[in-house]
Amino acid sequence: RNAQGASSHAGSGEEAIHFFSAGMHTELGHRLTVEAHLRRALERGELRLVYQPKVTIDEQAVVGFEALLRWTNPELGPVSPVQFIPVAERTGLIIPIGAWVLEEACRQIGEWSAVLGRPVKVAVNLSPRQFYQKSLLDTIRRCLAQYNLPDGSLELEITETALMSREKEVDVLMHDIRALGVDLAIDDFGTGYSSLAYLKRFPVSRLKVDRAFVRDLDRDEDSAAIALSIINLARGLKLKVVAEGVETQAQLDVLRGMACDEYQGFLFSRPLESDDVLPLLERGQLPG
Ligand code: C2E
Ligand code: MG
Ligand code: MG
Ligand code: MG
Repeated sequence: RNAQGASSHAGSGEEAIHFFSAGMHTELGHRLTVEAHLRRALERGELRLVYQPKVTIDEQAVVGFEALLRWTNPELGPVSPVQFIPVAERTGLIIPIGAWVLEEACRQIGEWSAVLGRPVKVAVNLSPRQFYQKSLLDTIRRCLAQYNLPDGSLELEITETALMSREKEVDVLMHDIRALGVDLAIDDFGTGYSSLAYLKRFPVSRLKVDRAFVRDLDRDEDSAAIALSIINLARGLKLKVVAEGVETQAQLDVLRGMACDEYQGFLFSRPLESDDVLPLLERGQLPG
């Protein structure tokens, strides 16, 4: 009865939101609450980007950042992207939200590059629905032009699972994106089960080894074997390889031994608030 009542009130504003809150202990109630709040998150300015440094394995030199979306709602508090991105994807809200992410990342790239006098590179995550949306190329083109960004300053990360079907279409799309001067990375590599043949044809420049294989790298032979295969595969194809989720010196040491190129992870830095990025780039200074 609750769920019925809830859906009949959906979208009717504050009342509905309070009504949903009462049902939040149920799975459905929570999902609807997240969805109702997410619909207004953009216009209410509840979204922001944080930026995790990407550094070289050898010298821990910052080579760029990954933009990660954060949502803090007055009622729900901070909600993880692991929770709300799937909701955004399912409802189609990912299209306006994703366009905002692209625009905001490009604005920041423009601002930081102007202050530093050299290009700063930022990677943005694309969800499958965004990637296959017709308007994507126009959105990218508009953002690059608006902030006058040089080639190679924007990178897009697409998960391996998003690429598993529609191979022909993906190929065309990727070449169109590359033609705009945007680099491509395959995210969460090793978690899908697509054929490796596509790597040969897709114009990607980076592979990101999924955190699942990095976690047990120094303790589990199987994880280490998978990580090493991915790194060797990437090298053979002349792609850069980035390890995700590096938390310990021991993991970093193993990756260095495997000649991995770059990493991201709490060991170097958590994702940074935008205000903390320039101090890092100008003085090598991390917050706290
Ligand atoms: P992802 O793209 O694979 O991002 C990496 C995730 O690992 C991030 O989680 C990051 O905060 C986390 N991480 C980085 N270093 C470490 C570490 O050393 N240890 C651990 N335990 N975690 C680490 P986050 O920010 O919660 O994002 C989760 C996922 O949500 C992302 O996975 C991405 O798939 C998605 N996402 C985030 N922002 C966006 C966005 O703007 N658009 C889209 N479509 N998806 C996004
Ligand atoms: Mg990513
Ligand atoms: Mg990833
Ligand atoms: Mg991952």
